[in-house]
Amino acid sequence: MICVTIGCGSHKRMIEEHQKLADDGVKFVELRLDYLRKKPELHRLLPNRPTVVLATARRKEDGGQWRESEEARLGLLREAIVSGVDYVDLEVDVAPKIPRFGKTKRVVSYHNMKETPEDLDGLRRKMIAECDPDVVKIAVTPKNIGDVFRLVDFLRRVNAPERIAAGEPKTLGISMTEHGWFTRVLGKKFGCPYTYAGFSEKRILAPGLLYYKTLRDLYRYDDITESTKIFGVVADPVQHSLSPAIHNRSYVEMGLDCAYVPFRVAPEDLSEFIDRAPELDVAGLSVTIPHKVEIMKKLNGRIDSAAQAIGACNTVVWGPDGKLNGFNTDYMAALLAIETAMGRKVGAASPLSGASAMVLGTGGAAQAVVRGLKDRGARVIIAARSEEKGLALAKRFDCEFCRWEDRGGYVVQVLANCTSVGMFPNVDESPMEQQMLRSGTVVFDAVYNPETTYLLRMARQRGCKTVSGVEMFVGQACLQYKLFTGQKASGSFMRSVVRGALSAVRAE
Ligand code: NAP
Repeated sequence: MICVTIGCGSHKRMIEEHQKLADDGVKFVELRLDYLRKKPELHRLLPNRPTVVLATARRKEDGGQWRESEEARLGLLREAIVSGVDYVDLEVDVAPKIPRFGKTKRVVSYHNMKETPEDLDGLRRKMIAECDPDVVKIAVTPKNIGDVFRLVDFLRRVNAPERIAAGEPKTLGISMTEHGWFTRVLGKKFGCPYTYAGFSEKRILAPGLLYYKTLRDLYRYDDITESTKIFGVVADPVQHSLSPAIHNRSYVEMGLDCAYVPFRVAPEDLSEFIDRAPELDVAGLSVTIPHKVEIMKKLNGRIDSAAQAIGACNTVVWGPDGKLNGFNTDYMAALLAIETAMGRKVGAASPLSGASAMVLGTGGAAQAVVRGLKDRGARVIIAARSEEKGLALAKRFDCEFCRWEDRGGYVVQVLANCTSVGMFPNVDESPMEQQMLRSGTVVFDAVYNPETTYLLRMARQRGCKTVSGVEMFVGQACLQYKLFTGQKASGSFMRSVVRGALSAVRAE
């Protein structure tokens, strides 16, 4: 169950937002009474409430906004209970002072804005012994992935079905930092009775709180069960990835019991995260910046030839033997996008065979593209602003190198931009000037946000054929989808999701 939190300055607005949520099918709402500017009037908020309500008045030291005295706050919480509110949130230090009354259920909460205490079991035992909880809520601040997994282990243990059947209260664990954010999405797998979400995408009342529509409609919190296979993207940062939208929407479209979750993992946490990810039922991951090279050290199963040659992989999948296999789907996706634009025919030799190509940049995308072009028999020239990096890449893959200032002097059949120049928000930049582009050249831009970059616009004006990074992005996602689920993805469906997500990013 998702509990949507509302915190408004006025009663009128709080009532309106509450009704709006109910109209949208939300069943459980937390009213944050500490956000009201005037003395809370429960007789306006509780009778005829359109959903189940949890009443909370949070103190400043616990991350809330309560401005009046502690005595007034305790009085308000008692009044909420006497008024028959469905749930009341009582902090661990005040719960013993407020006795159980009527049918109101007690969420006894502990907040630690600095760390994750060592003895979570001891803390919970004390909360049960002293506070008479129906739900134990423990919200902590993990410092690293080890802290997050300690929280997960604890939740699994204390929410074990036999303990709940024996009458112990359910425990809700919350990680208030982004690297433990997945606990908010996957909480049901650890027996959490519900999860919190925000009313608005912009107005976030607690660290790490997700917008309820994202949690409900994109991550499908309510559909995640013990048997749901988990996939995801491991990155740092991870916030702006389009992969959750593309994969989750495809699972719904294809009716698969899978969920795709972003995992923010710092470089120093990668090894531990990969070791422990299967405990979260994670069966495969997209891997992106900054982990594509480092992840290679964790592979102990099959490694595809592209990943081996490039020394980087963007997809990992655990096999039935528990071994971790690595793939580079960027390689094939970029090749297919370029070959399709060149008029590739099924069964015929690659149009890249013997063609001349210039690749701009030396990073991860450039390495995948260069390797692909070389494998297809193209003559490749690498242009890079860093002579040292450009020469090294050219030597590694047996290519020519050209200095950045000389890049306009070559006549090539394929030009591939693999730098980040032109990427949102710097949409008025291009890695090539218009007069450097020649009619008939196939111009590929790895940048996919925006779909039509300044480079591609100029290239079209010069009579070039163009291929956008969206084609590569969709191509690599289709290949990943197949590796993850064994099923064929719909490229056109994924393309429409990416376009929708990109226009939403621009509208922000
Ligand atoms: P990366 O590893 O960080 O490499 C970026 C490259 O761009 C480096 O060679 C960098 O040069 C160069 N560069 C940056 N600013 C430059 C400038 N002003 N002038 C000249 N060169 C410049 O990044 P990446 O992973 O390769 O990604 C590159 C682009 O491809 C990004 O926009 C990314 O979103 C896109 N991409 C798309 C897909 C897809 O599926 N469509 C997949 C992967 C990547 P220095 O080393 O000198 O800094």
